[in-house]
Amino acid sequence: MTINPSFPIEATAVLKGLSYAAMRQVMLQQAREHELQVVENSECAVSIEVSAYGQYRLEPSEAGIRIQISAARPDRLFMLKDSFGDTLSLLLPDRAKELRWSDSATQPSRPPNLHFTTVQSITPVGTAFLRVRIKADDLSSFQDDAIHFRLLLPAADCTDPEWPSLSENGSTLWPKGEKALHRPAYTTRWIDRNAGLMDFDIFLHDGGRVTNWVRRARAGDQLVIAGPGGGGIPDSSKVCIFADETAFPAVARILEALPVDGSGQVTLVAAGGEACGYPITGPSGVTITWLTREEASDLSNRVLEAHAAHPDHFLWLASEKSDVTPVREALKANKPTPGTSYIAAYWSKP
Ligand SMILES: Cc1cc2nc3c(=O)[nH]c(=O)nc-3n(C[C@H](O)[C@H](O)[C@H](O)COP(=O)(O)OP(=O)(O)OC[C@H]3O[C@@H](n4cnc5c(N)ncnc54)[C@H](O)[C@@H]3O)c2cc1C
Repeated sequence: MTINPSFPIEATAVLKGLSYAAMRQVMLQQAREHELQVVENSECAVSIEVSAYGQYRLEPSEAGIRIQISAARPDRLFMLKDSFGDTLSLLLPDRAKELRWSDSATQPSRPPNLHFTTVQSITPVGTAFLRVRIKADDLSSFQDDAIHFRLLLPAADCTDPEWPSLSENGSTLWPKGEKALHRPAYTTRWIDRNAGLMDFDIFLHDGGRVTNWVRRARAGDQLVIAGPGGGGIPDSSKVCIFADETAFPAVARILEALPVDGSGQVTLVAAGGEACGYPITGPSGVTITWLTREEASDLSNRVLEAHAAHPDHFLWLASEKSDVTPVREALKANKPTPGTSYIAAYWSKP
């Protein structure tokens, strides 16, 4: 059975000896945790939609449980399978090893979301960012509904890096030990899919491994990335946005995508406020306020006040973890409607 016509590509697996009742609770817990829509929830089946990516459907089978995953694109199907495998590994590591997907015979040897790219240029943006342009064979999966990806950086002194491969259970096998990769998330700021070109902007901060990498990088260097992933551009013309430097690329992209009659308010926090010079503009109905970090010491309160005053606006917050956690907790208590907010910690203080 196809779950949803928007998600025509499928893979299934049977896990013997697992209790449907217990796994149903795990699925529902994941839906609550990640604010995902529960499409179906009964003794016969539980289905969860991961917006824009696809759906998970779990049903009891004679032997245990049957899991069916459907998605719009092969790379998204892979990501959902990978994520299911990760969750199962945490809960039941031995059972996760037994997982075999129906499409395993046709799987490539590398995760399909891995891209081997070449650095084209590195240019300053304002005083605190470097913009990296990369070129890849196929960036078609980087759409507006998934604007993030991960850099895969070997240790600075590693001369023969290892890249991830696929395990028999369809999950990504990450290099370990001295070959382990640093995998921070970044945002596609600009993309030309036909030319295979993409820009992303790195906020420079002392001691950052990405900062160290980009300061040494040159045109012609190889850069391996994994993606896309994460959230996309909100489907709303009214926005209430709060962001620090790490989220400026995402905010710039969101504002660019708003219709001309889009409206709302944007609060941007940077060490020196607007003097950081990062270019962000929006339609005339959007007010942009710059704050220094000191002025934004009460950021969580500002977010909650703005949300209370504009409950019909899409609430978007990405910043340091201590700004984000109080907002997430306050919102969760009110059981928000899935798809009305994006609240994410983009980095955390040591
Ligand atoms: C979905 C998502 C999208 C993101 N998009 C972008 C993007 O487009 N551009 C961008 O610049 N960042 C972005 N980030 C944030 C970025 O992933 C983190 O800042 C990450 O820690 C950077 O890795 P690093 O190698 O520079 O630092 P690490 O080497 O991992 O950390 C070194 C030290 O730096 C500290 N640190 C990390 N980030 C900061 C910071 N912003 N300010 C001060 N200290 C810091 C850490 O606490 C640690 O002590 C995004 C994060 C997420 C989750």
